[in-house]
Amino acid sequence: MSDRNASRKKTGKVSRRNSLEKYQGLNLNNRIHIPVALHCNMHCNFCDHKYFCVNETQTRVAVKTLSSGDVLNHLKELTRNVSDDICVADIAGPGDPFANPTETMETIRLIRKQFPDIVISLSTNGLNVMPYVDELKRLKISCITITVNAVESTIGSKIYDWIRLGNNIYRGTKAAELLWDFQQLAIQALNFREIIVRINSLYIPGINSSHIEEIVKSVASLGASVYNITPFIPAKSTVFADLHEPMESEIIAARELSKHYLPRIDQNLLRKARCSDKNEIKLLSSSAETNKS
Ligand code: SF4
Repeated sequence: MSDRNASRKKTGKVSRRNSLEKYQGLNLNNRIHIPVALHCNMHCNFCDHKYFCVNETQTRVAVKTLSSGDVLNHLKELTRNVSDDICVADIAGPGDPFANPTETMETIRLIRKQFPDIVISLSTNGLNVMPYVDELKRLKISCITITVNAVESTIGSKIYDWIRLGNNIYRGTKAAELLWDFQQLAIQALNFREIIVRINSLYIPGINSSHIEEIVKSVASLGASVYNITPFIPAKSTVFADLHEPMESEIIAARELSKHYLPRIDQNLLRKARCSDKNEIKLLSSSAETNKS
């Protein structure tokens, strides 16, 4: 590697670490969820499509999507009324942002134009991120959460019913294999562009519970920066309706294990945290959806 490349690589690492530290220092309680994506490009066996994407939050809250205009009005209202707090604009659900790329990208462009300094994050299944990575970088997206529930297609095929790519529907191990392929590409591409990649896994007892170490090891090697585990909660009328929820001790053990490979943003610490650089971040607030982990 040339000195120039080595130095660029080193600078990239430092810059990514700074971004991560800054992101971790934010009070994520003061974030606002922006649901603009109505549809999803896959079907998970635990999802009933009635609430926020279950991969991203287990908060069982029904949501309606907002138009870009609604989003801006909502943000403006918040800046007017609550001027002393920070906000992260978190674009997530109820479907997948990149299954609805037109609405998602238009919303991000509008937010960035109106609020040049606001921290914007996104949550996605990772299937269709690749066409947008360069624009996401240009729009200064701080963090993207990708949910990875399996890195082995035999396990993934138990979790996912189907995925859609263009006009084609894939099922079984092929679907799981393709999904993981696209997730790997997305993690690497975002990491290369110095966008923080946070991985979330849903801990599903008896399905992927013995697979967590393999997941976190794989995503760490691809350049993900943060890893979180969310406990599965069964939803009626889904394939996984009869599965039981994990015990708290199982989640604690899995989180302990994953810490050997990647840190987890500690929500308790974040609740107490304040942004270290108020001048840099647009001040906003929202009490909505603070339970998302
Ligand atoms: S990615 Fe999210 S919205 Fe789509 S099927 Fe899975 S849980 Fe539901």
